[in-house]
Amino acid sequence: MIGHVEGRQFAAIAAYPAPPDDSAPQLSLRLMSCSRCGQTNVVTLNNLSWTRDLNGVRKLDIRPLENQLLITSSETEELRQAFKQMTELREAGDGSGAGNRPRDEACQHEYPRQDSNL
Ligand SMILES: [Zn+2]
Repeated sequence: MIGHVEGRQFAAIAAYPAPPDDSAPQLSLRLMSCSRCGQTNVVTLNNLSWTRDLNGVRKLDIRPLENQLLITSSETEELRQAFKQMTELREAGDGSGAGNRPRDEACQHEYPRQDSNL
């Protein structure tokens, strides 16, 4: 994964499987686009894992692997396509993917995704 991000092979990430569950160690890839000019795009890749502090309280440990890597507009488009494809693949999957998790019944909100856990 980090190799694909460093090598800017964003199309390759579409095939990454969803993490088995939310408590599993996972990667978070975030795409951020400048809302002023819309032409500056950066990606941040974080490694997420649950740990326990000294009091035994679960906490999320976030370790950046890539921080605000500047990418071109064509790379941004490639990454958006990969996210879209990933979502489609996971929703069409066998029930183990993130896209198939039961939704919170009380919540009908839908937001466009620009980042995804891998
Ligand atoms: Zn800007």
